[in-house]
Amino acid sequence: MSSFHTLSLTELAQGLRARRFSSVEVTGSFLERIERHQGTLNAFISITREAALAQAAAADRALAQGTGGVLTGVPIAHKDIFCTEGVRTTCGSRMLDNFVSPYDATVVSRLKAAGAVTLGKTNMDEFAMGSSNETSFYGPVKNPWNTALVPGGSSGGSAAAVAARLAPAATATDTGGSIRQPAALCGVTGVKPTYGRVSRYGMIAFASSLDQGGIICASAADAALVLREMAGFDPKDSTSVDAPVPDYVGELGRPLKGLKIGLLKEFFEKGLDRAVEQRIREALAIYEELGAQLTEVSLPHLPLSVPVYYVVAPAECSSNLARFDGVRFGHRCENPRDLQDLYRRSRGEGFGPEVKRRIMTGTYVLSAGYYDAYYLKAQRVRALINEDFIRAFKSVDVLIGPTTPTPAFELGAKTSDPITMYLNDIYTIGANLAGLPGASIPCGFVGELPVGLQVVGPHFSEARVLQVADAFQRQTDWHTRVPKAFA
Ligand code: GLN
Repeated sequence: MSSFHTLSLTELAQGLRARRFSSVEVTGSFLERIERHQGTLNAFISITREAALAQAAAADRALAQGTGGVLTGVPIAHKDIFCTEGVRTTCGSRMLDNFVSPYDATVVSRLKAAGAVTLGKTNMDEFAMGSSNETSFYGPVKNPWNTALVPGGSSGGSAAAVAARLAPAATATDTGGSIRQPAALCGVTGVKPTYGRVSRYGMIAFASSLDQGGIICASAADAALVLREMAGFDPKDSTSVDAPVPDYVGELGRPLKGLKIGLLKEFFEKGLDRAVEQRIREALAIYEELGAQLTEVSLPHLPLSVPVYYVVAPAECSSNLARFDGVRFGHRCENPRDLQDLYRRSRGEGFGPEVKRRIMTGTYVLSAGYYDAYYLKAQRVRALINEDFIRAFKSVDVLIGPTTPTPAFELGAKTSDPITMYLNDIYTIGANLAGLPGASIPCGFVGELPVGLQVVGPHFSEARVLQVADAFQRQTDWHTRVPKAFA
């Protein structure tokens, strides 16, 4: 059987456990697809064929002995921001081009423990800074629906890989939208958990108070299965929350009758493409048919989320990226004259322009003279945005709206204008500033291009967010659509 890519991750996991096919067969077939489409999509930075097949063979032995876990033998890909023992972890940067991690990130070790097989490492914006996957040192990823277009970023490799069915699932991270936004532009399901739900240990830091690991899959049901294994307390991450992980799979399927859906007034105002809005309204009608009630809510401070984010995230990144000094690991310049020269040239050569722009902005807003005016003020507005969300969730169960203002755009269209690029994140950043869980699911097309519907819930309501996403997917088949070239 060579059509494993047409099965869902849940079906693959079940078939492996029932021993209808082997992990070596499944893994081999996904590796073959990855290799065949790498030249077109550039979705991967490293393809770990031999290690994957060895893990698959071990999985098959475990399955034969009946000792497998829920994901035993299921191949997945990891965003190249997650450290993988013995495998190069670049974070999309020349700075880490030669970096082989001595340990696994907790996300990686948990999924390994659940039996998953690692196919390779997916391409991404450099240090996860970007909305289009065009800042990667390894070149842009192409959107499988139209290779002249961006896949979204920064987890563009993960989203493109799942959209083209090169992997049934791929890990991803979301600091300002990097799981939901590429999921939307590639027509797949992306889930960003609550801040603290998934360990950040071994996930290379961009902006530590915003970064959160999550998953991109074809459907919410698949995402529930993987997230159940990824989530949970980790003593190695001091911001990981010690709270029980619900059975996300078991909680699916509850009726939505009486669910109160909030429509954010601010999301439907200027800037939203009319055709995208149309798809969102059609999806909302389906929710009404399922018994949900729609009410408009307003988050007055939300329009400030982009400027707040672009102060807070660069500030944190300027501090996090100070560790790349050419001394301990990563890129080191040739023949430094002295220590200053070593720092300057190693960093000058190792980082790309977007990363440098963020480090400079961040250093500026943290400097003694400007700290109060920019950083402190941004933190205060962040608190107001958080309060707006908490108030909204007193009257509604979830917020639903668009994930992005437009469908995928052309490669190169926004690279010369960082502000226009930053405005892409207008609908996703709020959830990061407040630490809330969110998902993006496919809800239709504009022409040939997929549109994403965003669901955001209160803190630690992943089970509800997944339920709401899954209920829609039980009524529609948008999440099963695959671009023709990859069917
Ligand atoms: N696009 C946003 C940025 O460039 C978010 C990136 C992310 O979530 N990692 O910072």
